[in-house]
Amino acid sequence: MDCVFCKIASGEIPSTKVYEDDVCVAFKDLEPQAPVHVLLIPRTHIASAADITPENSAIVAHIFEVAAKIAKEQGLEGWRIVSNVGKDGGQTVMHLHFHLLGGRSMAWPPG
Ligand code: 5GP
Ligand code: ZN
Repeated sequence: MDCVFCKIASGEIPSTKVYEDDVCVAFKDLEPQAPVHVLLIPRTHIASAADITPENSAIVAHIFEVAAKIAKEQGLEGWRIVSNVGKDGGQTVMHLHFHLLGGRSMAWPPG
């Protein structure tokens, strides 16, 4: 499948990985929006958060565990985890991913 994040997961496209295991990969965003901006993706191709089902939701729970571990390792005081879904959600890569953002104060509401 011609998917940039599948290729990052397999290593075909290089990335700066901060964590990986059998289920997920975490790597630095190419265009960081905060001092810490890590993307967490499942190794398996799931198009977006709109495609989370009872069959694959354990992967998402695992990714959140990993996110908490990374945030702790990075020494973040607080952080944000975001998944953009579809056109209006601002999703540009159609492989489920969670943005872990931290290292600065976050605005609310988001733009
Ligand atoms: P989205 O807009 O879909 O929520 O987020 C996609 C994110 O992937 C963007 O923040 C973008 O900077 C990042 N991105 C896109 N292509 C690559 C890539 O090849 N490598 C890395 N490290 N990040 C990428
Ligand atoms: Zn993919």
